Amino acid sequence: MDELLSVKVAHRAIAKDGTEKYLVELSDGKRVECVLIKHKRTVCACLSSQVGCAMKCAFCATGRMGFTRNLTADEIVGQFDLMERESGVKITNVVFMGMGEPLHNYDNVVAAIRALQKKGLSWQKITVSTVGLPEKIRQLGRDVQCKLALSLHAPTDELRSGLVPVNARYPLRDVLAACLDFPLRRKSELMIEYVLLAGVNDGDEHTRELIALLRQIPFVVVNLIPYNPVEGIGFARPSLESAEAMKAALIKAGFKTFIRTTKGIDASAACGMLSVKKKVVPA
Ligand code: SF4
Repeated sequence: MDELLSVKVAHRAIAKDGTEKYLVELSDGKRVECVLIKHKRTVCACLSSQVGCAMKCAFCATGRMGFTRNLTADEIVGQFDLMERESGVKITNVVFMGMGEPLHNYDNVVAAIRALQKKGLSWQKITVSTVGLPEKIRQLGRDVQCKLALSLHAPTDELRSGLVPVNARYPLRDVLAACLDFPLRRKSELMIEYVLLAGVNDGDEHTRELIALLRQIPFVVVNLIPYNPVEGIGFARPSLESAEAMKAALIKAGFKTFIRTTKGIDASAACGMLSVKKKVVPA
């Protein structure tokens, strides 16, 4: 099926900052979400790779849904085409940070990356984000050129296994070893995603442990993401001061670090907020 026909808009919400969140219906009636985020010079598409997710991260709305099925490559690329068509803007960057664990749907995600590159997106503009499946990280590095992001969220195995259950199977040592086998370099650093959960992983001791851990990786950029509270999930957003303190300590230690601006929060389009609501009024 042509990717243009494999997905259709079920609902579109536009936040005050221009972020567009799409509820997309697949040919079998299942639904996923994707988001268009407009920055000053770039337009980023955040794509879903699965209906639901099997990884069950403790703070994630999608993880609560459980896993239903993988998306096909056409359904993944279809989200890109649909958002360009509906928004009328040209997408410059793609991140696989929507619903699902991309490396758990490896073949279709790699096929989608190749299709996006054929559309003219360079490999530096495509980022695959993973909770850390070591052999798939290595395979990705061999099979296709793209950037890699690791959803770290905790600096120790003990804490991480409580937040990201797959860590019990693939501990940090194995995940970092796989990341070191991925072709990282300047301008293609490993992006570390670290969701800040108040009182859970945002203390001074966590910052010290994080710095020690990251010293093992030569090219790294840290994204601190203050948590966006989701109804029914018992985590809180930390204060901006605690996020700024962690950022300052990381920068002092020599790591390029950003606090991710929460774009689209009023359209529930920010990180960790993607979950298909049971009742959605069609546009
Ligand atoms: S954070 Fe990502 S990998 Fe974890 S449950 Fe949510 S969608 Fe899945």
